[in-house]
Amino acid sequence: AKAAGGNRFELADPEADARAITRHGLTTALPTALDRGEFFIEYQPLVHLGDGSVRGAEALVRWLHPQHGVLSPDRFIPLAEHTGLIVPLGRWVLEQSVRQAREWRDVNGGDALGPLRINVNLSPCQLTHPGLVQDTVEILERTGVAPDALCLEVTESALIGADDDLLKPLRRLAEMGVDIALDDFGTGYSNLANLRRLPVSVLKLDRSFTQSMQQFPADPVDLKIVEGIVSLAHSLDLAVTVEGVETGAQAEQLRILGCDTAQGWYYARPGPPERLHELALVDATG
Ligand code: C2E
Ligand code: CA
Ligand code: CA
Ligand code: CA
Repeated sequence: AKAAGGNRFELADPEADARAITRHGLTTALPTALDRGEFFIEYQPLVHLGDGSVRGAEALVRWLHPQHGVLSPDRFIPLAEHTGLIVPLGRWVLEQSVRQAREWRDVNGGDALGPLRINVNLSPCQLTHPGLVQDTVEILERTGVAPDALCLEVTESALIGADDDLLKPLRRLAEMGVDIALDDFGTGYSNLANLRRLPVSVLKLDRSFTQSMQQFPADPVDLKIVEGIVSLAHSLDLAVTVEGVETGAQAEQLRILGCDTAQGWYYARPGPPERLHELALVDATG
């Protein structure tokens, strides 16, 4: 950031420059990264708070960049959304994850451990892409995975003020039996009454609520808020998942507050697919 003439930009920020260069480099490398097979997926278990059993996993994409090493999605998902790569990338993540769910099922010998469900994040760009429903149907058919083993996570902010056109594909998927989860719930400004209008069956309570359960006793106002959200969710027949659970104390508080499912480092960090199978197996055999 240097300007010819004037001294407005003289205070160059080397770190900002480095970031801009990296961003530029990433943007250039991104379109071909999918073809080069540089993306991979880690899976983080979703655990039932009542009995501690593993019920499924969330798929989280990573980019193994030849120069920069493993990049977290926060580094490249915004770029992928900006460049449009998110549509083929998102489709790839969906297909890989659903295949993985099929493999867990097969390795487990059918449903012996109960079906492991797979959660996949959807970007707002994928929601408005006309191929979403058909792609999803085809992937489920190709892999032989039942729609109710799949949960698509959409952020609360993507659905704020959503009109019927935007909701239509989600409704179709929900009618087929695919679960829709409202991700990062509680960070946006959505009207709680608005929830009735959305084809969602799961609320994923944002990590900030989990963080506020860190102190013991937790802030009484936070407790009331979570309690209120859980009771509203349950009265609307929605399940509540909490993310970012890092300690046993948080898990216990959230269990007492009535949350259904949890995810976080306390149980497991995101990891390779084999790891999930091990966790589920250990879980089932004691
Ligand atoms: P998210 O959907 O809210 O995913 C949860 C994030 O919290 C993940 O970060 C996960 O690794 C992290 N996390 C899990 N447990 C804990 C914990 O106990 N403590 C803390 N501090 N963090 C925890 P990650 O993997 O870096 O992903 C970041 C975001 O990138 C995701 O947030 C999601 O919005 C997006 N993302 C990831 N994969 C995909 C994808 O395939 N498609 C799209 N569109 N977005 C994706
Ligand atoms: Ca998510
Ligand atoms: Ca989330
Ligand atoms: Ca998030």
